[in-house]
Amino acid sequence: MTETRSTCPYCGVGCGVLIEHDGQRITGVRGDPDHPANAGRLCTKGATLHLTAAESVQQQTRLLAPMQRTRRGVAPHTVDWDSALDDAAERLAAIHQQHGADAIGVYVSGQLLTEDYYVFNKLVKGLLGTNHIDTNSRLCMSSAVAGYKATLGADAPPCSYEDFAHADTVFITGSNLAWAHPILMRRLEDARRARPQQKWIVADPRRTETAEMADLHLALKPGSDVALYHGLLHLLLAQGLTEPAYIAAHTTGFEALAERVRAFPPAETARLTGLAEADLHTAARWFGESPATLSLYCQGLNQSSHGTDNNAALINLHLATGQIGRPGAGPFSLTGQPNAMGGREVGGLANLLSAHRDLANPAHRAEVAQLWGLPSVPATPGRTAIEMFQAAADGAVKALWIVCTNPAQSLPDQTLVRRALERAEFVIVQEAFATTVTCAYADLLLPATTWGEKDGTVTNSERRISRVRAALPPAGEARHDWAIAADLGRRLAARIAPARIALFPYTTPESVWNEHRDSTRGRDLDITGLSYARLEEQGPQQWPCPEGAREGRSRLYADGVYPTADGRARFADVSLSPLAEAPDAAYPFSLLTGRLRDQWHGMSRTGLLGRLYGHEGLPAIDLAPADMDRLGLHDGDLVRVASRRGTLVLPARARDELPAGQAFIPMHWGEEVLSGHDDQGRTLNGVNALTTPAFCPKSKQPELKHAAVAIEKVVLPWRLSAMAWLPADQALAVREQLRPLLKAFGWASLLPFGREPDAQGRVGLVLRAAATAPVEAALLATARRLLALEGPEVLRYRDDAQAQDRALRVQRTADGATHLQGFWLAGDASGEAWLRALLDSDEALPGPARLLLAPGGLAQALMGDAATPASPQVCTCFNVREDTIRATLGGCAGSPAERLAALMGALRCGTNCGSCLPTLRRLTKEVPVRQVPAAA
Ligand code: SF4
Repeated sequence: MTETRSTCPYCGVGCGVLIEHDGQRITGVRGDPDHPANAGRLCTKGATLHLTAAESVQQQTRLLAPMQRTRRGVAPHTVDWDSALDDAAERLAAIHQQHGADAIGVYVSGQLLTEDYYVFNKLVKGLLGTNHIDTNSRLCMSSAVAGYKATLGADAPPCSYEDFAHADTVFITGSNLAWAHPILMRRLEDARRARPQQKWIVADPRRTETAEMADLHLALKPGSDVALYHGLLHLLLAQGLTEPAYIAAHTTGFEALAERVRAFPPAETARLTGLAEADLHTAARWFGESPATLSLYCQGLNQSSHGTDNNAALINLHLATGQIGRPGAGPFSLTGQPNAMGGREVGGLANLLSAHRDLANPAHRAEVAQLWGLPSVPATPGRTAIEMFQAAADGAVKALWIVCTNPAQSLPDQTLVRRALERAEFVIVQEAFATTVTCAYADLLLPATTWGEKDGTVTNSERRISRVRAALPPAGEARHDWAIAADLGRRLAARIAPARIALFPYTTPESVWNEHRDSTRGRDLDITGLSYARLEEQGPQQWPCPEGAREGRSRLYADGVYPTADGRARFADVSLSPLAEAPDAAYPFSLLTGRLRDQWHGMSRTGLLGRLYGHEGLPAIDLAPADMDRLGLHDGDLVRVASRRGTLVLPARARDELPAGQAFIPMHWGEEVLSGHDDQGRTLNGVNALTTPAFCPKSKQPELKHAAVAIEKVVLPWRLSAMAWLPADQALAVREQLRPLLKAFGWASLLPFGREPDAQGRVGLVLRAAATAPVEAALLATARRLLALEGPEVLRYRDDAQAQDRALRVQRTADGATHLQGFWLAGDASGEAWLRALLDSDEALPGPARLLLAPGGLAQALMGDAATPASPQVCTCFNVREDTIRATLGGCAGSPAERLAALMGALRCGTNCGSCLPTLRRLTKEVPVRQVPAAA
């Protein structure tokens, strides 16, 4: 075994990982103790990366060879690379010649490496002669880009993770840090331990796990961020907590802003935000009086139809108080994706050029043209993500080349997206995984390498460039994304502009990176002092790091000089804008979206592991208890959620972290795991069937965080619950075969469960569905067969008159004991929880298996208390559940810290990745010490 140093491919924290492997198989992963971002820690997602790279998982989920469809709707067939690339070049060239460059849209990803991004950007802007390239980073970071540029003059987060340790006030706004960036939460917890005076303010409509840990939670109304920041600035001014000297020396535009915020006294701000005046006073005091205030923010600000204004209004607070450019101070935008920053650096978006150059600036365009050896590069901004898919739906974009992203899951307004994918004449999907829903729309599938195989660089939230290294050769015939782009670029050039074949001379990722590096000379992100060799010798480095610099700069603007024409930062005088959709009589609920702790984006990788569903294993909508009562709902009842664009059916559950009138659905639940059909027979396309494509006019980032919806109880009396253990080398393939069946039901969800690698080499699948009446018998028989719940070894009970159908698969071991291997409950599925507990426990059945075929409650009564339904899993690493934690805490006395330590010592929970620590702390507060009766 050997270890290869690389970087986690999930979030923008950019944790270093050490991949354990034998050159053929990845066998383990651990945090890189030498990486400055994580110092050896990994969260649940990073710590399970090796499981997603297991051979059995890869064989069932990866795209291993180029594939072509002769027509839509049929299965694709394998083709060789030359045929695939020649076909792609031929068809793209034909569209280019017939309809012009603007008829081609390239949609890439913040998961790509900087080298991949660079080649795609050059291909579109240098070869095709259009700016129609955009990225899924548009969905998460473009408001942060626009906010920084509007105020500080450049797209550069000015802070570093080390600032956490120097901050006295931390203002977390629009971020559930504990779940979205767990390793940063660990660093922040360390900082507060070492600096007990550090105060945390969390602004979030929901009482998230991050808000639970705050000293002050500002549960503001959705969309009222600008009102909050203006209200805080009003108070800072009123209380003399601004820094007039800093404002005078280093900024412009304060007078207009000061005039505007006069209209935001506490009473008015309280009305606009729904917050208590006293809390506004406290927040302003903590922000302004603190020697160092650090703001941490993410999608809650960005994914808004006024996302740029949200960002700019927050940055105003830092400029007005001089809380920037000093240790522990500054506005720190946290990136969602692992290389959203790298994409911005190479200008891989519709409105940017290489090395933070502006498309609108003729001098910048001339510089890029010179770098690429071209007479010019196009000046007209390209279509951004939403605009590109709208244009495809309207017929203006004829070809879509989709790279390393899953727009049929992640873009808002899935009705529009599906129309675009269906209408486009030619869709290329360049992907590592064959299992994303977008693959079903591809005319041509190009297999790409992924984590463990890729080689290049990424940049994390704190401007730190890390190497991504390959541990294994590419799976099957997969190729690196940059290499596919360069090869297809050359073939395309031969057809449309032969002189431009020379644009793609690359032989290694390093040769691409060196060209990118040279393009940064003299720019704000100058990295001419870096090289692959230096990254090899000295590890990850921050930019800027110009030639001759001994190290990168950890903190920007310490001298108060900003990259603007006059060297001054600009206050943004922004007005209030409404949400794209305010709740109204027809759509009275505010639907919020967000992340889960153990899942990543569209789940093409994390969604493969049963253990990562242990924390949240049921796609559901959260509602306030009062709303549940008002709608006559009990936990688990199905509801129909409708927006102006689409509908979704899923179970509801009460969550008191939400105020009345708000609802929450995790962003991850796409059609791959949650589907069904509506009254007109249309397929339900996951959470983004509901979300709005309305976007911020400045950043073009859509308002994914919020939509107005109507919610009503839906009665689907026929229920199906089926769970089964399957061989690990078959389960995920079975899942793919089951997926097309989901749309036959009114509601259906399909997920893996269990803790792979299971000692018996098994992975579980759970299928839940509901309908108005039993669905077609043949379809149900197919589902049973796929779950190995059909056949002579299966015990079966059928009562067609009552529409009841139950089946069991048991296994007899050498000692004569029988163990449940799977069950099928159709009609009445009320026995699911208890049977699942029996399945999970893997204990020998205490009585004859046939007794389990009795209806729900009776089966349990006949079999006795063989198992207890499991409570929620809290610790994913050691599979520790809430009931065990509560029971253990009852016996732990002492201070909260001592009780937590005792709990961790007893159960090991929280001792590995630490993602569950916020929950453990909450439970430590909630659970009293058991009183032991005094001895007689
Ligand atoms: Fe990966 Fe977790 Fe680190 Fe993000 S916080 S980079 S998901 S290990």
